[in-house]
Amino acid sequence: MQNIYDVVVIGGGISSSTFIANILKQGFKGKIAVVEAGRGLGGRCSTRYHHKDKKLALNHGCPNFNIKNFQKDICLENFIEELLDKNLIKSLDNSIFEIDENYKFSRNYNNQFYFGDVYTSITNMSKLVENVIHLYNTKDQIDFYFETLINKLNFQSELWNVLSNKNKKIIGKFLVCSSNLLLHKRSLEILNVGEIPLRKAIIKKNNIKIDEIIKLCNNQEYIKRINFLMFTKKNYYLEGIFNKDIIHFIFNQKAEKDIGFERIIFQKQFDNSLGIVLHTRNMESIINKYEREDRDILYKYLLNKLNTFLIKNHIASKNLLLDDISRMNWRASQPIGEGIPERLQLCEECNIGFCGDWIQLEGYGSVYGAILSGLKLSNKFIEFY
Ligand SMILES: Cc1cc2nc3c(=O)[nH]c(=O)nc-3n(C[C@H](O)[C@H](O)[C@H](O)COP(=O)(O)OP(=O)(O)OC[C@H]3O[C@@H](n4cnc5c(N)ncnc54)[C@H](O)[C@@H]3O)c2cc1C
Repeated sequence: MQNIYDVVVIGGGISSSTFIANILKQGFKGKIAVVEAGRGLGGRCSTRYHHKDKKLALNHGCPNFNIKNFQKDICLENFIEELLDKNLIKSLDNSIFEIDENYKFSRNYNNQFYFGDVYTSITNMSKLVENVIHLYNTKDQIDFYFETLINKLNFQSELWNVLSNKNKKIIGKFLVCSSNLLLHKRSLEILNVGEIPLRKAIIKKNNIKIDEIIKLCNNQEYIKRINFLMFTKKNYYLEGIFNKDIIHFIFNQKAEKDIGFERIIFQKQFDNSLGIVLHTRNMESIINKYEREDRDILYKYLLNKLNTFLIKNHIASKNLLLDDISRMNWRASQPIGEGIPERLQLCEECNIGFCGDWIQLEGYGSVYGAILSGLKLSNKFIEFY
C-alpha cells in the first residue's frame, strides 16, 4: 500500500528546511516527505563542486545572508543564535568592500544583501541547508525524493496527491509549497502543463484564500542573474588585506553599469587555489552577443575585465590563471513586486501552507525573508495540527 505522509514539502531550500527544523523542534512526531527537483538540498542557496575534486566548492547562487530583525522577532533571534552556537554559520564582518563609480573602496555598504548582520555558512551554502533540515531529525522522520519535479497536484478526500513528471506519486495529509512555481503562470512553460497545478487542484471559487494567493502570486516577477564560476590554478593569492578566506566586492549601481559585474566573490579553497564567482544581472545582451560567436570568446572577455580590475586596484599582482570556468543561469533569482501577505501562509480548509522568500515579510526576496517565512509557517502549523 502507498505510504501516506503526514506532511509533504515541495522544495528543499532554506525556507522549507527552517520550517521542518522548527516543527521537529516543537515535537512534531509525524513522517515528512521532502520532494526536490534538484539533485540535493539548497535551492538557490546551492553549491557547485569541481568536477575533478569534490572538495573544491563554490556557492554559485546565494553566497551570504543578512539579518536586521527590525521587528525583534524572538523566534528569528533564537534561530540565528542556534546556528551560531552550533557552528553552522559565521559572521562576514570585515570581508566586504563596496566599490563606487570612482573605484573607491569603502566598508559602508548600501546593498540590500549586506545591511545588518551579515553571515555565511561555515562550510558551504548547500551544507548549511542540509544541516538545518537535520537539526532535530534525530528519529529519521524525513524521506527525501530528489530529482523529482512535481507537475500535478490533486486534493481529494482530505489528502494531497503530488505527482511528478515521471509519474512518481507521493501522498500526504498536509502540503507545503516552498516555491511559488506551482501557483504561478510560469509553470505552464516550465512544467509543460495546460493549467497552473494548484489552480487545477482547487478550482476557482472553492476557496477564497487559494484564489487570492494565486491571483497575487501571478503579479510577482523575478530578477534574472547569470553567474560565472572560476577556479584558479593552485597557489594563487590576493594581495595584502585582500588575502583572506572570503572576500566580497560589491559594486554600487553606477560602478555595476560601468564594469558589468554586480559582485565578485572570492573563496579560498583547501588546496590554495581560489574560487571566484562573478555575479551579473544586466549582462544578458553582451553575453548573448559574445556567445553567439564562441563561448571561449565570452570567457576571455570576462577574464580580461576581471584581471584589469584586480591589477589596477592592487588586489592582485598578476593575471589569473584558470583551471576551470563555467556559468549558471538563474532565470528566477529573486522575486520582485508585491509579496504574498503573511495571513495567506496557511489555508486550514485545504491543508496547505506556503513558505519562501516570496512571502511579504521583512527580508522579502532574500534568505532573511525565506528563514522568517519558514519559522512563521512552522508556528502556524503546530497550532493548527
Ligand atoms: C545568484 C543569486 C544570488 C543571491 N544572493 C543573495 C544574497 O546575497 N543574500 C540573500 O539573502 N539572498 C540572496 N539570493 C536569494 C536567496 O538565494 C533566496 O532568497 C533564498 O535562497 C530563497 O530560499 P527559498 O527556500 O525561499 O527558495 P529556494 O531556495 O528557491 O527553494 C525552493 C526549492 O523548490 C524546488 N522546487 C520548485 N518547484 C518545484 C517542483 N515543482 N517540484 C520539485 N521541486 C521544486 C526548487 O528546485 C528549489 O530547490 C540570491 C539568489 C541567487 C540566485
